[in-house]
Amino acid sequence: MVEANRVETWDVPVVDPQPGGALVRVVLGGVCGSDAHIVSGEAGQMPFPIILGHEGVGRVEKLGDGVTTDYAGVPVKAGDLVYWAPIALCHRSYSCTVLDETPCENSQFFEHARRPNWGSYADYAWLPNGMAFYRLPDHAQPEAVAALGCALPTVLRGFDKCGPVGRGDTVVVQGAGPVGLAAVFVAALSGASEIIVIDQVPERLAVAMSLGATATVSLSGTDEAERRRQVYDRVGPRGPSVVVEAAGVLRAFPEGANLTGSHGRYIVLGLWGAIGTALISPRELTTKNLRIGGATFPKPKHYHEAMHLAARMQDRYPLAGLVSHRFAISQANEALEAVKSGAAIKPVIDPTL
Ligand SMILES: [Zn+2]
Ligand SMILES: [Zn+2]
Repeated sequence: MVEANRVETWDVPVVDPQPGGALVRVVLGGVCGSDAHIVSGEAGQMPFPIILGHEGVGRVEKLGDGVTTDYAGVPVKAGDLVYWAPIALCHRSYSCTVLDETPCENSQFFEHARRPNWGSYADYAWLPNGMAFYRLPDHAQPEAVAALGCALPTVLRGFDKCGPVGRGDTVVVQGAGPVGLAAVFVAALSGASEIIVIDQVPERLAVAMSLGATATVSLSGTDEAERRRQVYDRVGPRGPSVVVEAAGVLRAFPEGANLTGSHGRYIVLGLWGAIGTALISPRELTTKNLRIGGATFPKPKHYHEAMHLAARMQDRYPLAGLVSHRFAISQANEALEAVKSGAAIKPVIDPTL
């Protein structure tokens, strides 16, 4: 990405890994809603030119000096499939060592496109020392791990930070893109008694049902009052105990806050690229005993957990099938368009195309 709204294909050198690092041949590079927000300029200035792509599964091409295991202590060698957490932590900052939080003050999200680079819209990803990567379990399908991309780690991080979904929770998920689908998937595995998903695309709502949703509400042909009526009809007069924002648009925020039942939680995960303000009645936080929280930038442990969860569940849930579109590196613009239009559940960059 050279500047806002300008993505080009460049040839850059492939560089040997540094000590402690790894060079990985990209197998699948996930195309994420955040990438579309970065390209449109909505997410603010980036250190252009950059290589896009913060979701990747790849095959170890070469390991840096001293590397014999992944970041969970599992032996790793050239040819193994790995999945990586795309933010390098410095392990010597206040966030890293005192707060135990991500990202840290020294985190770098992107590198100049002509320098060794971990962007996954590329043939190779150069993982610096300190960037956690994990070996896929034997028999794990790369598509199943890539299917929910950074969305599954994001949801695990959000539930970690804002409180997990428990048995008997009644959950509403706003938006059935990858983050919303991951929220449905985790809520279903956690024993939620109702999982109601709101979206406008019928195909996405159908996928949500296949991952454990119990009901859907369409955005088309309904207004906020009607959607609320449908949700409350289903969960009862107390309203949902958890609402998850995964819509990525500001107008979802007041609706989600209003929708959350008394003593409930509203977990905001999708507004990373939606800069702006929205009006709510703060009094409701008091009178309804509401908690509103948000989270982003999953920790390495959330990537580790997501990878193992996907590998464990790949035969019970149609995860690999969520990878709906494959694009060559040179088709990155089309891939971004597919994610923006909502036409694709999960497009990926496949460098072999
Ligand atoms: Zn740090
Ligand atoms: Zn992402």
